[in-house]
Amino acid sequence: MPQLELPNTQHFPSFRDLPNDNVANFSYYHQSPPGSPILLPTRHWVFLCEITRNISLMRPHFLVKDRTGTDTQVVFYIEGENQAKFASICSQFVVGNTLAVFYADSHYFMDGSVGLRVEDVSTVKVIPCSLERLLSTNANDVNIRRACSSCGTQRRDTDIPLRGCSRCKTKYCNQECQRVDWPRHKHDCVALQQVQAWEERDWRRFENYWDAF
Ligand SMILES: [Zn+2]
Ligand SMILES: [Zn+2]
Repeated sequence: MPQLELPNTQHFPSFRDLPNDNVANFSYYHQSPPGSPILLPTRHWVFLCEITRNISLMRPHFLVKDRTGTDTQVVFYIEGENQAKFASICSQFVVGNTLAVFYADSHYFMDGSVGLRVEDVSTVKVIPCSLERLLSTNANDVNIRRACSSCGTQRRDTDIPLRGCSRCKTKYCNQECQRVDWPRHKHDCVALQQVQAWEERDWRRFENYWDAF
């Protein structure tokens, strides 16, 4: 039984369900040690959203929509060593790509609007596929498939095993079937690799903050 599925809203909450950085939310945080003012997460969570518009002026600023279609914004407040980190990934902030923001809190800005205020670039990853594609990706499909993803040929136990895509393990008869499928597969491949990487982690227990990379 997989412990992680992207439809899981405990680990991948919508914007409305995020904690707010002004309120101690004990479904996301606990006091550590008990009674202290220090809040640590009780588990890991990621806010997923798709970039719909780049409205950067003074600072990197993106309009996004979440898994429920709710529009919101992600604003980066970047200083010091984070500037170099952000510069190394800023070309990925393209409309249609998905942002994954670990441990996201919602934030009220000075102008009264609400969104995400991100200071730590290591909590953010850009995934070069749409949010819809990412959410519809099921890593288990790949492991149990007994048919070539290109031509659909079924395999029996006695046959030569299918070869897998080296990145995501999607199955093919041979290199030729894989080559023919690549123009279509390259989009799924990105989403699958991300979901597989996330599935290898233990999301239920919080010991340390994870980097998004
Ligand atoms: Zn085939
Ligand atoms: Zn692949």
